[in-house]
Amino acid sequence: MSEKEEDDIKFLADAMLGSVARKLRIFGFDTLYVPDTSDNEILRLAAEQGRVILTADKELFKRMMKQGAPGVLVDGTSDLDDMAHIFEKLGISANLFSRIGSRCTSCNGALVQKRPEEVGALVPATVLARHDGFWQCTDCQKVYWDGGHLGRIRAFARNLEDRLSASKG
Ligand SMILES: [Zn+2]
Repeated sequence: MSEKEEDDIKFLADAMLGSVARKLRIFGFDTLYVPDTSDNEILRLAAEQGRVILTADKELFKRMMKQGAPGVLVDGTSDLDDMAHIFEKLGISANLFSRIGSRCTSCNGALVQKRPEEVGALVPATVLARHDGFWQCTDCQKVYWDGGHLGRIRAFARNLEDRLSASKG
């Protein structure tokens, strides 16, 4: 799959997969998270918006298969296992590190890089003093910085890439 095709993949994550949904967003994947939604509504939304359904619900997955709706059944116990499984199933292989910091984990909005002086009023002074890589959500205005949350995501990405390259043999 080309990088362009990978960019076009959109996900819909069901109630059990909130943490996976947030990680997919930080890797830049357009991900709708629907915690309080019926199976019927999930199927309808996914079809309408062209999204790949991610679920840990075997009954829902059976219905998806019957209807030919694209989706991946995951275990729902480990984000690392689940995401390795999703990326393998869909053939997603692009460098995950280049994707970090492109979408807001809270609201799925696009992130843009900011200079420290542009976000100075929105982050604690100690953070401002210690970091210089900042991103801000264009929708909810949440600010991200290197270290902190993005540092943990980088560590997660490293583990995930190791896992994916190991399973390729
Ligand atoms: Zn946001």
